[in-house]
Amino acid sequence: MKYNENNVFAKILKGEIPCNKIYEDEFVLSFHDINPQKIIHALVISKGKYVDLDDFSLNASPEEMVGLLKGINKVAKKLRISMEFGNGYRALANIGNHGGQEVPHLHFHLFGGEKVGKMVE
Ligand code: AMP
Repeated sequence: MKYNENNVFAKILKGEIPCNKIYEDEFVLSFHDINPQKIIHALVISKGKYVDLDDFSLNASPEEMVGLLKGINKVAKKLRISMEFGNGYRALANIGNHGGQEVPHLHFHLFGGEKVGKMVE
């Protein structure tokens, strides 16, 4: 699938629409989900233009891969949900139609602040 420049996260990255920012560095931008499913529901998106985790795994550089994983940990620390500072969380990436992905720009959901519950319906 070709990357669509008009997806909502691309617009957030370009500053065309606002977000409730948590963290930003060279590799990731993190902000609160507009429709939170748990007490804490953060999104961590890649700065690079990748449609999903498969696209990222195939095409991202090693630096971008490390940057994304480190970024997730930095956000979890900042939100005090990491195992270093809190009680844990769930990191989840939806991929494609069967995965339930709505926004075609690579992102991880971080759920926490309470027990997240059943893994899948
Ligand atoms: P997914 O189904 O994995 O693609 O998840 C997309 C997520 O993006 C959903 O949880 C939406 O609530 C969230 N979302 C959509 N638009 C925005 C926005 N403008 N700001 C923050 N979160 C958004």
